[in-house]
Amino acid sequence: MRVSDLLRRPEPTFSFEFFPPKTDVGLARLYGTIEHLAELGPGFVSVTYGAGGSTRHRTVEIASHIKNTIGIEAVAHLTCRGHTREEIGSTLDSLASNQVDNVLALRGDPPKDVPDEGFSDFRYADELVSYIRDGQSMCIGAACYPEGHTENPDPEDDLRRLVQKVHAGCDFLITQLFFDNEKYFRFVERLRRQRIDVPILPGIMPVTNVAQLKRFTTMCGASVPSALMERLEKYSDDEQAVLALGIEWAIGQCRELLAKGAPGIHFYTLNRSLSTRVVCVSLTGR
Ligand code: FAD
Repeated sequence: MRVSDLLRRPEPTFSFEFFPPKTDVGLARLYGTIEHLAELGPGFVSVTYGAGGSTRHRTVEIASHIKNTIGIEAVAHLTCRGHTREEIGSTLDSLASNQVDNVLALRGDPPKDVPDEGFSDFRYADELVSYIRDGQSMCIGAACYPEGHTENPDPEDDLRRLVQKVHAGCDFLITQLFFDNEKYFRFVERLRRQRIDVPILPGIMPVTNVAQLKRFTTMCGASVPSALMERLEKYSDDEQAVLALGIEWAIGQCRELLAKGAPGIHFYTLNRSLSTRVVCVSLTGR
């Protein structure tokens, strides 16, 4: 099923994001986790793609397993930086032949150990979106950033680039994680004013670790409201208290987002499902 159709249903869609583990033991554990989460009735599960294709085969393999063996709709992330057209084409063919027909089209960041550019046939994600739209019938999603993308200092230009990306052929958007719902609501409003009407799925990460939160938010440019940060810092040595606070904050965010019309929630699980499960159960009562 096309994710854009799922996101247009009246009931909210819950989805979970995982990254490909490095080992077979990790992979078996991940499949166990996803099977267990299936009872929560997720609309789809997405699988990330390592920069420069480092997990290319794993992403296809895992997305195919989720769709064809576990029986949940799968979204395969695909980044274009560092790839030729032929490489991207062959990954899309593998996805299509495995009945994975939802893809999240991304530019990606340059891998740390590989010099930037030089051999990419695509500069930005909108070019990848156009390429997929021209050759495949897939449902295409893309990333968006309620607080702006870190590389673009001009919010208006950043928005224009996003509008251009959607016009290139996106069917839905998933946001970068955020902790302040107002940022999402204002962002959706700005896009609607530009006549962008694709579903915009908010990305939520229940906090599980304060040091990791600081690392992530520095990297991706998401702000942490002082009301949350002050409480987290008070408990930073108490793992259980941080988990509980992360869950409480995420439940509050999700309830308000859904009440005010978000089409669902995309959970950044970081391959740890406990907090996501508690938040989801509290929202759905399942
Ligand atoms: P783009 O849409 O291309 O935008 C990148 C930057 O370029 C922005 O600053 C934009 O304003 C600017 N820009 C766009 N077009 C132009 C243009 N024509 N001229 C000049 N500037 C332009 N990374 C991974 O490696 N693997 C993953 O699986 C992955 N999954 C993600 C999932 C989600 C939901 C999100 C939000 C991010 C994910 N990322 C992933 C991270 C993503 O790859 C990075 O944020 C990357 O820096 C930008 O990718 P993009 O597709 O948003 O890029």
